[in-house]
Amino acid sequence: MQKNTIYEKFGISNKVLELSDSIISSLRERFDKIDEIAEINAAKVLSAFQENRVSAACFAGTTGYGHDDLGRDTLEKVYASVFHTEAALVRPQITCGTHALATALSANLLPGDELLSPVGRPYDTLEEVIGIRPSACSLAEFGVTYREVDLLPNGDFDYEGIKNAINEKTKLVTIQRSKGYSMRPTLSVERIGELIAFIKNIKPSVKVMVDNCYGEFVETIEPSDVGADMTVGSLIKNAGGGLAPIGGYICGTKECIDRCSNRLNAPGIGADVGASLSIMKDFYQGFFLAPTVTAGALKGAIFAANLYEKLGYHTVPNATEDRFDIIQSVELGSKEAMCAFCEGIQAAAPVDSYVTPIPYLIPGYNDDVIMAAGAFVQGSSIELSADGPIREPYAVYFQGGLTWNHAKLGIMMSLQYLVNAGIVKL
Ligand SMILES: *Cc1c(COP(=O)(O)O)cnc(C)c1O
Repeated sequence: MQKNTIYEKFGISNKVLELSDSIISSLRERFDKIDEIAEINAAKVLSAFQENRVSAACFAGTTGYGHDDLGRDTLEKVYASVFHTEAALVRPQITCGTHALATALSANLLPGDELLSPVGRPYDTLEEVIGIRPSACSLAEFGVTYREVDLLPNGDFDYEGIKNAINEKTKLVTIQRSKGYSMRPTLSVERIGELIAFIKNIKPSVKVMVDNCYGEFVETIEPSDVGADMTVGSLIKNAGGGLAPIGGYICGTKECIDRCSNRLNAPGIGADVGASLSIMKDFYQGFFLAPTVTAGALKGAIFAANLYEKLGYHTVPNATEDRFDIIQSVELGSKEAMCAFCEGIQAAAPVDSYVTPIPYLIPGYNDDVIMAAGAFVQGSSIELSADGPIREPYAVYFQGGLTWNHAKLGIMMSLQYLVNAGIVKL
């Protein structure tokens, strides 16, 4: 069967396919570089499995309190080995990335302490965790104050502003690696390291937490390699490899992780309790696959940037920039274009391909959000997905794809839907 014959089944025209293939053929060198990073990271994970003697017994389910849960305890050692930290908390009881971040923050901030974000406004769902938008049980309600310093207009750190913002109350600094739903650049691990060194030089007792969502395995080092006390993320993104059905992780110093364990469970109980039920095999296998899955998603992001930039759209990151997370945003300029793009992604999905995504208000977010996700794990954004808040500049954030082939198909479908809607003319 010819390639265009099978793509015809999806309604993809020859014009869209030819444009896509010509762009992809120009990206071979960059794809080789991504494969090399994946090779290193996959070997890093494998060696952590071997070092910690992962065995079939680790996949057995546990119930009840989960004392001496071999699978859970070994997995946490594997994460600690990969992230080069003293300890890790990796659990299905951490329900998502926001929960992992909220746990890390509330475990390490006490009334009277101040939290500082030196990289501007954090991810939408953290606004209520911190109390930037009022919410019951926010850090603000518990007497934790908050300060933020924006990046400079050129994307650099505002070192002067950061220095001025650090005071006797500053206890914890939160650094978000990925841009999230903003148009600022994503930070490389190297830049995060420079920022951490600057801050610890001013106040050595300050703890640093990095929100690592979407950044895992994009580079060969992680924030924990450059001085972060806690590196935090979601298993429904990169680190879960598409197989973890739930979960979050916090890797860091023993001191910080012990506090997180007490916060997550109960003081005194800490990390000893928390049955892993029957999902350990998926946690292990997902983590094993994560570097390779991340590489496929990265190729999709770079392809999307090159395709949409060629069509005249503003993309962040742009077609040629280095990558530090898997998110690609494309400024589409209108709600209609956002909907068409997301309908195309949805129509490419293995699950729920027949439904039409519609913007709606999701708890934790401030604007209507459109989300296209036809995923094996509901809402998973390491699987092919696109989303974005319906507000200026009407940017969609595209990410994921468990395989590069699927990412390519999804991006071609997004363009086909824009063509069909009369928004793009080829
Ligand atoms: C997704 C994300 C979160 C929140 O993770 P959830 O699993 O959706 O709760 C936090 N920060 C960043 C940068 C993210 O991308």
